[in-house]
Amino acid sequence: METPLEWLALARGTLDRAALRRRDEDFLAAAWADPRTRVLVVEGGRALVTPGPALLLRPPADAPEGDRWLLGLDEDGTAYFAVPAPLPAIEGAEPAGLRRVGVALNDLESGLLTHAVALEHWHATHRYCPRCGGPTETVAAGHVRRCPADGSEWFPRLDPAVIMLVEDDEGNVLLARGPQWPADRRSILAGFVEPGESLEQAVVREVDEEVGIAVHDIRYLGSQPWPLPQSLMIGFFARAAGARPALTPDAEEILDAAWYSREELRAAIDSDAIVAPGPLSIAAQLIMRWYGGPLPKMPDF
Ligand SMILES: [Zn+2]
Repeated sequence: METPLEWLALARGTLDRAALRRRDEDFLAAAWADPRTRVLVVEGGRALVTPGPALLLRPPADAPEGDRWLLGLDEDGTAYFAVPAPLPAIEGAEPAGLRRVGVALNDLESGLLTHAVALEHWHATHRYCPRCGGPTETVAAGHVRRCPADGSEWFPRLDPAVIMLVEDDEGNVLLARGPQWPADRRSILAGFVEPGESLEQAVVREVDEEVGIAVHDIRYLGSQPWPLPQSLMIGFFARAAGARPALTPDAEEILDAAWYSREELRAAIDSDAIVAPGPLSIAAQLIMRWYGGPLPKMPDF
C-alpha cells in the first residue's frame, strides 16, 4: 500500500491547461478562429457522444453561441474549448455524462469532459457575487467569475472529500452500505472535509463517526476530480488495531458495516450477495489495490 494508485478514470486528462493564456484575448481570438480548434458542447453534465465511445468535438464554426471556456492545448497546439448550450440533435450521437462514459473515453476525452462538466456546474450555481449579491460575469476563459460592481473575482469551488480503505491487523477490509444505496451495494467509507480540518483529521473523524473505531497509519494513495457535482475525492489507506474490531454503525449514515477477508469478499461478490463499486470510482481502485487485482465482478460503471 505504498505507491499511488496508477489508474483513476477521471484523473487521466492529458491537455496542457494553458492557465497563463486564459486572459490573453489575442490568443483566445486566434485560437477560436483556427479551424483546427475543437469545441465540446455541454448541457446538464452531458455532452454528445458517438459510438466508441468518443466525444463529438466540432470546429468553432459549428459551435453554438455561449461562453467559451478554454480547456487547454494538446501537444500539437490544438486548442480545446467547452461551450455551455443546448445539445443539438445530431444523427449517430447521443447525450452521455461521466457516469456512463467516464471510464470508456480515452485519456484526452475523459479529461475534457471532466473539466467541462465541472466548470458547467460551477457557472450554473455561482451566478451572483457573494459580496454584494449582484450578477457576476465570466472572465479568464471560463475559470473566474468577476463582479463588475465591486471588482471581486471568484474562483471555481470544490468540496474535498476523503475516502479511506480501512484494514485491520489481519488484513480484513471494512465495507459499509450508505443510506441511499441499493441493498447489495457496499463500499469503503468517505466523507467531506470540514473547515479547519486536515485531510488526515477528516479520515480519523469520519471513521469514528460512521462506525465508531479509531484508525492510525493514515497514508495518501491518490485523488481524482469528482464533478458529480463538485467534489475532489482524496483516497487514503488507514489501519484499525486488532482483528475485526467491533463496529457501531451510525444509523443515519451507515445501514450496514462489516469486515471482509479477501476470500469472504470474493465469495460475497460471486454469489451476488454484494455489489462492489463501479470502475469510475476511486473506491473501486482502492479496493482492488487491497484485493490484489481485479474483483471477480464489477458493475459496468
Ligand atoms: Zn459584487
